[in-house]
Amino acid sequence: MPEYHGSCLCKAVQVSAQVEKPELSTCHCESCRKWCTGPFMAFEAKHVDLEPKEKVTHYASSDIAKRTFCKSCGTSLSFYYNNMKQICVNPWIFENVQGITSNVEVCYDNKPDCYSFANDTKKYTEAETMAMVDTIPEYLPYQN
Ligand SMILES: [Zn+2]
Ligand SMILES: [Zn+2]
Repeated sequence: MPEYHGSCLCKAVQVSAQVEKPELSTCHCESCRKWCTGPFMAFEAKHVDLEPKEKVTHYASSDIAKRTFCKSCGTSLSFYYNNMKQICVNPWIFENVQGITSNVEVCYDNKPDCYSFANDTKKYTEAETMAMVDTIPEYLPYQN
């Protein structure tokens, strides 16, 4: 599985991730837009390593999801549902990411009218997005 390496804006946090396919999925929900000043674009990763741990903090943006970010510069690092096997990681923190495709938009019914992507994507409503969340409670990364 391809492994990607990178860092946050201030370079305090080093990130490595195993990403099966470098395909972007983009979330238009209000929480993501507040968090990123725009839609949150992400790779789905099997494993994400954020080091050193003491430079990383997380925020529980709902009862079912958490967001990790750098304590020093605030770079958005990852998003994950508490019970999901995969983690959504910010692709722009990685070096040498090539051959990216942008295939999926989620929470599309929450997208403001003032922007839209020109490329062809699969679009899912918030209800359809939530239905895709894995309900097996077996993976709890970054728990303190
Ligand atoms: Zn940083
Ligand atoms: Zn979102």
